[in-house]
Amino acid sequence: MATGGSKSGLAHRNKSTPKDAEAKSLKRKRGQDDLGKLKEAVDQLDPKSPDIKNFTDLPVCEATASGLRASHFEVLTDVQRAAIPLALKGNDVLGAAKTGSGKTLAFLVPVLEKLYHAKWTEYDGLGALIISPTRELAVQIFEVLRKIGRNHYFSAGLVIGGKSLKEEAERLGRMNILVCTPGRMLQHLDQTAGFDVDNLQILVLDEADRIMDMGFQPAVDALVDHLPKTRQTLLFSATQSKRVSDLARLSLKDPEYVSAHEAAASATPATLQQSYIVTPLEEKLDTLWGFLRTNLKSKIIVFLSSGKQVRFIFESFKRMQPGIPLLHLHGRQKQVARMEITSRFSSAKYGCLFATDVVARGVDFPAVDWVIQADCPEDADTYIHRVGRTARYQSKGRAVLFLEPSEEEGFLKRLEHKKVPIQKVNVRENKKKSIKNELQSYNFQSVDLKYLGQKAFISYTRSIYLQKDKEIFKFKELDLDAFAESLGLPGTPQIKFQKGEDIKRLKNASRAALSSDSESDFDADGNKREKKDKDQVRTKYQKMAERQNQDVLSSHYRKLVDGDTTGTPDANEDDDEADFLSVKRVLADDAQLDAAAGIDNPATTTIEPRVVKLGNSELIIDSNRREKLLKSKKKLAKYMERGNKLVFDDDGVGRPLYELQGEDDFAQEGSADALRTQFVAAETEKVKEADVQDKQVAKQRKREKRDRAKAREREEAQMEAEDGEGMGPQIGGDGDDGEDPLALLRSLPIAGGGGRDDSDGDSDGGEREPPMKKAKKWLQDDSEQEEKERKSKKSKKGGKRVIEMAEEPDNLEDLEALAAGLLED
Ligand code: ADP
Ligand code: MG
Repeated sequence: MATGGSKSGLAHRNKSTPKDAEAKSLKRKRGQDDLGKLKEAVDQLDPKSPDIKNFTDLPVCEATASGLRASHFEVLTDVQRAAIPLALKGNDVLGAAKTGSGKTLAFLVPVLEKLYHAKWTEYDGLGALIISPTRELAVQIFEVLRKIGRNHYFSAGLVIGGKSLKEEAERLGRMNILVCTPGRMLQHLDQTAGFDVDNLQILVLDEADRIMDMGFQPAVDALVDHLPKTRQTLLFSATQSKRVSDLARLSLKDPEYVSAHEAAASATPATLQQSYIVTPLEEKLDTLWGFLRTNLKSKIIVFLSSGKQVRFIFESFKRMQPGIPLLHLHGRQKQVARMEITSRFSSAKYGCLFATDVVARGVDFPAVDWVIQADCPEDADTYIHRVGRTARYQSKGRAVLFLEPSEEEGFLKRLEHKKVPIQKVNVRENKKKSIKNELQSYNFQSVDLKYLGQKAFISYTRSIYLQKDKEIFKFKELDLDAFAESLGLPGTPQIKFQKGEDIKRLKNASRAALSSDSESDFDADGNKREKKDKDQVRTKYQKMAERQNQDVLSSHYRKLVDGDTTGTPDANEDDDEADFLSVKRVLADDAQLDAAAGIDNPATTTIEPRVVKLGNSELIIDSNRREKLLKSKKKLAKYMERGNKLVFDDDGVGRPLYELQGEDDFAQEGSADALRTQFVAAETEKVKEADVQDKQVAKQRKREKRDRAKAREREEAQMEAEDGEGMGPQIGGDGDDGEDPLALLRSLPIAGGGGRDDSDGDSDGGEREPPMKKAKKWLQDDSEQEEKERKSKKSKKGGKRVIEMAEEPDNLEDLEALAAGLLED
């Protein structure tokens, strides 16, 4: 199959020699013969037949069969056995089956067959559209499609953004199968001229319930609006709602419900072992840290509620060097970085990925040992999808959910309702280690980290506040001050809320922090609040702002006392009046004169009064002060009248700047009307010229602004890259514009597992295991005493279900033993 997105994707087909063409036409003829038989076989297929066990039992074309064989798929999974026959027969299907049960093939096989049956070619345009809620999942579906569709002649493309719309648009017209995210696809349907979807045969929604839910609703409805109504539609998810409204929105026709595990005792895979820990919000990070430290040789995903949480915990844990490679993934990262991280985590043997729900659904990382939900998911469905990242397709996996005491009862109820078996485990109190002080010191060292911490605090508390299910999320029961402290923050940040009494509570909670040395206090409107304390530390920006204010004030002040206001300071009090009554030159009183003459302590000696002529006005000199005034030309200038500006004509005669023209001269110049039109024409010309110039200036300014923004972006990207934020491809500095996403796609691990390419070692210092030297030092620090103690305790523990969070395990063996023993029956 030709895969789109790459320039070479379709090219090789056009280069065929006459011999090839002959062979191909023969093949096509044979294909046509087979097609008749194949269709017959499909017609006669009993979708409920118990004889369908393997892919070879399905009436599919040789290209599909060989693709499946080559990808080592033999035995059908439950959902595949139930859904593929129905879909082959042209039914609309609503498929629900547990995570990791093979839903992807359940829709990809019918997609390939559908187009094969229709003898679809490059020139038929778009035949199949597969929608995924996230880019990561879309990439993965595309990969599986490439694998099993390798012997087909369809062209397939990925439409997920991250490249310019125009570039994507150029290739779209030639694609037979597209895997897309809803928003991006809609953009093309709306904007890409000549992109025709009228022929669409089959539409697939993977993670259908997510795609149909509120967030995607407008995009999906608009998208479906573009599609022809006569098409087959397949919907798949691990958690499927059968809302009639959804079915109507997609105009499904008598859909077949396939619920592979409806009768199962649990909604989650049987090979998944699930437990939860109750840990107060302010101890969450300690617990998480303890967990990582005891599971260094594991592959772990830690789910958090927001990108900000992810960034803060990733950044601070990275500094603390846990001894396990750390990665992080959230929706705000650049596309290339996201793909790079996904592929790195896929191929990693050990490692911990901090992630938001961008990878909660569908993503098939191979061999994940643990799924930790450090922040409680919004609902039981999200829980089911998150834990579904482990224990995929017959493999084992373990999941731990962290619950705040206030969340325990509510969330357990929800899980029970959804048939999720989960048991409580405890972290031994005396084995817990507080990392508060370490975090505090890192926050102290790095303003950036502290800023991240504040944002993480705000985004977490706000998310709890905004959660819909108030039976689980009880904002009022959280100890916000303790939480802020546990993040190592110097005070409790204030949070912006729309309305409600809780604002008051937050404000009160943070009042104490106002007098602490927290730099970032947010008031109810999210604005930075200036602190009133005298001995507070002021930020650079505060100081700048103050200086600015000073300037504003002083210019105002200057105006008040400047010589061009004639009143005294007292007179200034009734400014309005002074302005209103235009005062003629009043000779200043003594005080003002003192000021003008620069005399501090005027001696009031009487002198002979006399009058001095100053231009056209007169100044009475009746005191020493005034006498002195005469000595300064500069000060006297104020009392002089303005001079008249003269221009000199050719004869050297001075004339005033503006001279009134004589009546005769005026008449000579022509009629007033003619003059007026002439004048108007000349002025119009001038205005036009000025306009052109103005436009140029505006353009230039715009360009400069854009350049500046770009430079800033580049800088940020570079900083991010240096921080380990954007890895590999971003290091080049120029963002992802020049990248071919397919180049990355091709490098993704197709078979899963496999060696990890370490050649890019310079870009990710912080995410590797720390050098052995450090680890050694850390190991040596422990006393033998403790080791014995712990060993004896461990042996006493026996089969009890207790998580032991060792404070600092003693050696590698010990660590492994501890990790192995963790949560084990
Ligand atoms: P789901 O979409 O139901 O969560 P996936 O389609 O992602 O599950 O499949 C989960 C894993 O199972 C994938 O790694 C896939 O390769 C594997 N898998 C799917 N079907 C089969 C099969 N019939 N035989 C062997 N492995 C399979
Ligand atoms: Mg899936």
